[in-house]
Amino acid sequence: MIVGALAGLILCFFISVPIQFAIILIIFSAFSALAPDIDHSSSKIRQIADFTVPVFSLFFAFFSTCSDFSCVVANWMEIIKTALIFTGVYAIIMIYLKPKHRGITHTILFSFIYGAILFFLAGWYFALAGFVGYFSHLLADRHIRLI
Ligand SMILES: [Zn+2]
Repeated sequence: MIVGALAGLILCFFISVPIQFAIILIIFSAFSALAPDIDHSSSKIRQIADFTVPVFSLFFAFFSTCSDFSCVVANWMEIIKTALIFTGVYAIIMIYLKPKHRGITHTILFSFIYGAILFFLAGWYFALAGFVGYFSHLLADRHIRLI
């Protein structure tokens, strides 16, 4: 996380953003530096994801089905079903399709894929901060492979 925060700090020198936004980007970069170790069962990011994926799945299921709490009673089955599907897909990937440690998630290609996903979700600044954080992990691991 420290290496990722440093990478985010260096990025912020070059893109000149307001200080409050720079702090957000640096924190985001620090967390992005944890992302490559999603392929390791006892990593920090796995412990975080194992808890947050079901919670966020439930939030996503709620907000994609309802606009207020009154519709929960009528649609609770739909909400639970959607949340279970997302949590189940995450669990299946992590149990059966998890790449080997320092495999595909520790490549330059995957850094770009991570950045591209962030670009579509949150725009250029988060894509750049996420990319430098992610890439700093590969540098710190001294594990730089294209694919
Ligand atoms: Zn690693």
